[in-house]
Amino acid sequence: MDVLTKMIDEDHEGVVFCTDRVLGLRAIIAIHSTKLGPAVGGCRFMAYGSENEAIQDALRLAKAMTYKSAVSELHYGGGKTVIIKSDSCGDRTLLFKKFGYFVESLKGKYITAVDSGTTTVDMENIHSETRYVTGITTKRSGLGNPSPITARGVVWGMKASMLELCGNASLHNKVIAIQGVGNVGYYLALFLKKEGAKLIVSDINNERVKKLANEIEVKIVSPEEICVQEVDILSPCALSATVNESVIPFFKCKIIAGAANNQLSKPEDADSLLQKGIVYVPDYVINAGGLIHVVAEYEGLSMEYVYEAVSKIYQRACNILSRSREKNIPTISIADMMVKEKINKSTTNLKT
Ligand code: NAD
Repeated sequence: MDVLTKMIDEDHEGVVFCTDRVLGLRAIIAIHSTKLGPAVGGCRFMAYGSENEAIQDALRLAKAMTYKSAVSELHYGGGKTVIIKSDSCGDRTLLFKKFGYFVESLKGKYITAVDSGTTTVDMENIHSETRYVTGITTKRSGLGNPSPITARGVVWGMKASMLELCGNASLHNKVIAIQGVGNVGYYLALFLKKEGAKLIVSDINNERVKKLANEIEVKIVSPEEICVQEVDILSPCALSATVNESVIPFFKCKIIAGAANNQLSKPEDADSLLQKGIVYVPDYVINAGGLIHVVAEYEGLSMEYVYEAVSKIYQRACNILSRSREKNIPTISIADMMVKEKINKSTTNLKT
């Protein structure tokens, strides 16, 4: 991959490589855009097949954060960190403190947070070196776990899609299939049950479905079957790219609305969904609850603010879905256009 060419093609501002030989730290901080404000985005700690793969992941995720921030009307840009997990990684506490040192060196241009493979304890360690971190524990005046808030945003997005499709936002008696009942999917199931929905769930981790089934009535199906259920809504809450050309022809849902990031494997998938008459509620529009939550924590705002801000996902999704219907172009294209317009209006991030 030609990194600089890719960065120019996709409007990335910069990438910072951070290393420490003794601690085995190999981190990539990708800053996609600071045009609307400091780049905010989580820190992943996971193994990759190659350094190239890790860089690609950081760039892709940072760009998605810019879009999520902008569409949610937050005064922030997008960034992401990938710390490559390997046998050579040393003491975890020191590793994250050292990463905090690098975040501090960016002087607030990038604000980090919890993501796959990191915990609030890691954020505490980063916090010992820099204030440019959010998603710390409630003990330290953090707002706690953002996953239930992400789930609430998804519920708002589902209601918007029901309004678009049936003229009524109620989820009562609607059949909803949830793919993945982890941090977000679990809360989503609980909230949807309260709305009176009928749930079909699946997870590759049996313990997770069992835990949920002990609490509420759900139908459990295998991970292979979940996508082909005849349902009102299919909710991808597991991995990226689960909406792809190999499964779209078999979909029997009316709506796709879930928490997973980058649900479409490629832009053309949005056209296929449109042709099939499936309403796709863009992922970064409805899964922004977690971002709204961590930004509120960073700014010292209350949970009341968070609930209010997340409820606005409903109107936002309604607007995008109706514009998509009127123009007969994919919902994701409408959302992308809104973001690009907003970023282009903000002419520069230079002082003069
Ligand atoms: P998680 O890891 O807690 O949950 C994902 C679940 O999906 C796990 O239980 C996993 O076993 C299951 N899973 C994996 N592959 C599966 C498959 N093929 N079929 C069925 N289940 C499968 O993650 P999470 O925090 O709940 O996040 C879920 C998705 O939402 C991710 O894509 C994440 O990036 C995105 N997201 C999360 C948040 C948040 O606040 N946690 C915010 C925005 C976006």
